[in-house]
Amino acid sequence: VRIARIFGIDIEADWSWVLALLLFTWAFSGADSPFIRLDPGMRVAIAFACSVLLFVSVLIHEFAHAAVARRYHLAVNGVHLFIFGGVARIAGSMASEGQEAMIAAAGPLSTLVVAAFSLLCALLVSSEAVHELFVYLTYANIALALFNMLPAYPLDGGRVAHAISWGISGSRERATEVTIGVSRVFGIAFILGGALLAASGNLVSGVTIVFVGWFVIAAARGEWLRAAVLGRLGHVTAGQIADPPLLVLPPNATCEEARAAMAARRAQCAPVTLGNRLLGTVSIDDLERANDPQGYVGSVMTRTEDLGAISSELPVPQAIDRLSSSGRRELAVVSGDELAGFISQATLSRLLAYERKHRS
Ligand SMILES: [Zn+2]
Repeated sequence: VRIARIFGIDIEADWSWVLALLLFTWAFSGADSPFIRLDPGMRVAIAFACSVLLFVSVLIHEFAHAAVARRYHLAVNGVHLFIFGGVARIAGSMASEGQEAMIAAAGPLSTLVVAAFSLLCALLVSSEAVHELFVYLTYANIALALFNMLPAYPLDGGRVAHAISWGISGSRERATEVTIGVSRVFGIAFILGGALLAASGNLVSGVTIVFVGWFVIAAARGEWLRAAVLGRLGHVTAGQIADPPLLVLPPNATCEEARAAMAARRAQCAPVTLGNRLLGTVSIDDLERANDPQGYVGSVMTRTEDLGAISSELPVPQAIDRLSSSGRRELAVVSGDELAGFISQATLSRLLAYERKHRS
């Protein structure tokens, strides 16, 4: 659900977010409450305010990533909040190590700014309850920033570490290998540390840390798989792996007919072809914008020359780079002026799934 749009960046929250808000409020007002010294009524109110402000902190953090990415003209498909936090959806791969480092570092830096601001509020307010609230937020944001700077995937520090080792080695692939290795070491350390802590009686903290370690190892594996797939597909061409279109439309189909045909196949986008020649593509949005339902799709489509279509001879790794830097959902793959198919995020997921299953 979209909740706001700030500077052209969509903020979306999933319903689990409401549940998280209630859970946090409950945790912050229970027996282990950091606000235990306040009287019960006030404690619940402060616990609720604290939960809301923690989510605002996460939002600011993700928004900082998104805003810097936008400055580098990368496509940003919004900030999404869910039960464990948030994620800034940035399409496009980083053109340089500097860009990657800046985008990754923006998050923890903004969190430190929020911590400083909370500290200032804590010093300025006169109410004891509000003072405690801001003291807690100061600590929480410092902890969040430090945790995020650990040099392990999928944390921001992992991206910074990748950018630094990219800068030193001059090779993006080598940097990925190094960062994955470091992430695994951190993951294992978290799991061992967590297990020791759990064994010594701190069950909840111990299990949480084991979980974090598992999360880090899973992320490192994901990055490794991605790198392995891209490394292995250097000699495979975009034309070989492109997905065929769900349907093709002739240029003289009416917008009304096109919409019905696309709805029947649940297609977001369809190519318009004459014989085998690709003329352009038409999306559901194009059709919704068209004011004459009897008008031809040929007059509302995006023409081939404006599609940023890629050649079917292009190797898969470059094709995927082109897809992500275009910020589009899918890219047409053409052989001469004929349509060979499309590559999309779904194509990449299919390649990953295949590699996961058939890796020897
Ligand atoms: Zn971040």
